[in-house]
Amino acid sequence: RVAGGTAVVEAAGRPRAPHDEDALLVVDDLRVSYPRPDGSLSTVVDGVSLTVRRGEVLGLVGESGSGKSQTAFSVLGLLPPEAVISAGSLTFAGEDLTGLSGKTLNDLRGAKIGYIPQEPMSNLDPSFTIGWQLVEPLRRHLGLSRAAAKEKALGLLARVGIADPARVFASYPHEVSGGMAQRVLIAGAVSCEPDLLIADEPTTALDVTVQAEVLDLIRSLQAERNMGVLLVTHNFGVVADLCDSVVVMQTGRIVEHASAVAVFADPQHEYTRMLLDSTL
Ligand code: ADP
Ligand code: MG
Repeated sequence: RVAGGTAVVEAAGRPRAPHDEDALLVVDDLRVSYPRPDGSLSTVVDGVSLTVRRGEVLGLVGESGSGKSQTAFSVLGLLPPEAVISAGSLTFAGEDLTGLSGKTLNDLRGAKIGYIPQEPMSNLDPSFTIGWQLVEPLRRHLGLSRAAAKEKALGLLARVGIADPARVFASYPHEVSGGMAQRVLIAGAVSCEPDLLIADEPTTALDVTVQAEVLDLIRSLQAERNMGVLLVTHNFGVVADLCDSVVVMQTGRIVEHASAVAVFADPQHEYTRMLLDSTL
């Protein structure tokens, strides 16, 4: 694991210094709300600030419903249309994400920010082969020829541990297991060599037997490519395995932000202690 030294302990919610050369993703005071039928707003992310640096794995931890996915979706441009980003800023490699139009954001998301979702099957298109789903982004974002994209896709399938890449390349999503589908999505997430990887509970939907393998794969790809990773999880075991630093969220707010070492050795917040007790 690289960049163990980049973890920073800081007060929850405090804005970072503006120039941080290694900063890939800077989320500053983000607030996400939904309108209620009576016209008032329900706030699901409330003043979240975090930074992911090159080579750093940041764990975003909290119980179900604490706002982890809403935070990740804000960065990925995947919030539903009724959501309102009512405050804050999102900056990727110095560029303001909130000011970008749909197409630019899409290109950025497809090429520079890799995304591994929680549900592999619902994130593969059932009507196209796995190969097509890997080849298209390579053609669109990297401008590769069909033959070059296919060769790269086959190499990626081998890299994520798929024994018979050519067969899987020609398969439809329903023809492979959940663990295999998640490997395919990981291959897709890193195919355009992104600087940042966002993984939202990447092993939650998988059988226990393949969870460790998928985590190993994410860890080795991260180290190989020195990516920054925002790893959403409700599991402190995953944090112990993979993360340099941790942000703990409770009902939309950050309650603790520290290095992984510090969180395990000396958790500061009652909620963090409760989560640690219940998951380790
Ligand atoms: P987590 O990923 O930590 O489990 P989420 O980010 O998915 O939590 O959800 C945070 C909160 O946002 C939850 O209370 C959820 O009910 C609420 N929420 C998510 N999507 C919507 C929506 N479309 N409309 C209203 N509330 C939503
Ligand atoms: Mg979630």
